Amino acid sequence: MKALLIRQFGGIDTLKIEDVPDPKPGPGDVLVRIKSAGVNSKDIWARSGPPGGKAPFPWKPRPFPYITGGDGAGVVEEVGEGVEGFRPGDRVGINPILYCGRCAYCLAGEQSLCFDYKIFGDHRPGAFAELTTIPQQNLIALPDHVPFEDAAVLPACYTTAWRGLMTAGQLQAGQDLLVVGASGGVGTAALVLGNYAGARVFALVGDAEKVRKAEASGAIPIDRSAHPKFSERVLALTDGLGVHVASDPVGAVTWPETIRSLRRLGKMVICGASGGERPDFDIREVYQRHRQILGAPMGNLRDFHAVMSLLFQNRIRPIIHTVMPLAEVREAHRMFEAREHFGKIVLVP
Ligand SMILES: [Zn+2]
Repeated sequence: MKALLIRQFGGIDTLKIEDVPDPKPGPGDVLVRIKSAGVNSKDIWARSGPPGGKAPFPWKPRPFPYITGGDGAGVVEEVGEGVEGFRPGDRVGINPILYCGRCAYCLAGEQSLCFDYKIFGDHRPGAFAELTTIPQQNLIALPDHVPFEDAAVLPACYTTAWRGLMTAGQLQAGQDLLVVGASGGVGTAALVLGNYAGARVFALVGDAEKVRKAEASGAIPIDRSAHPKFSERVLALTDGLGVHVASDPVGAVTWPETIRSLRRLGKMVICGASGGERPDFDIREVYQRHRQILGAPMGNLRDFHAVMSLLFQNRIRPIIHTVMPLAEVREAHRMFEAREHFGKIVLVP
């Protein structure tokens, strides 16, 4: 089969599609022919090396070469011994969380807190290949009307956004939501899910083109280049109160202003630190106003099924920037690193 093999850290010119032996499904595993795979920031780090040279948890150094890609959807090609729920020809989506199913957190339904938490595409070969194997418990059957590209972009970013906004943030209809980094994967997911939840959504974006796209998504855009102290704009738009919930996957460069955008008792949900992991702010700004900071990367099976169900019922439509062949992966990485995208980039093997 053809696969994107990462052989070393480097620039986009190190990305190469190669011929490798077809994988075989082991007991309990399913062989899936990938039809669409979504690009995430960790796929970029898997090629460039992690930001700051430091692998963020739950990353561990792996031996080269490896096949990355945590987000995928496709068709069952073959099933391993003991697989009963799926058969060749079934259309399937992939839940990227690998969990033990036996530890205290798994038994409590919190699979993303598993003591043996791992991720498809990080800890075993992922979706940037024509074929992949995955445990049967990580598959979900796709209805015929659901496009592969939509199913492929939900698992990482939309599950994370749902976990942050709904499960952790307890966002309610009629509340105000600030989405920081609104053009990225988790950001556009938060725009879609915030609208679905009936919140008033403010989208922090970086340029005029993204302002236009944020507006088209139903959000109220705030251009960060025009409002570097964006909390002042948020307070002006919320009668001086601030928002109930803010999603900030960016980190150090935005945290101080995001915290100042929260109303009293407001919640900031966090899942990443692409803009640095050591913010500079006065902790009194958090506790004196009873503000809360909640970690929420990925989600459990309930969170995953919540977003997949919304897709199956046509109640949400993910924002996809572009769909391109896997052979054009260099252009996909260039676009991602230049932050030209608004929504998800999909690669088709
Ligand atoms: Zn577990």
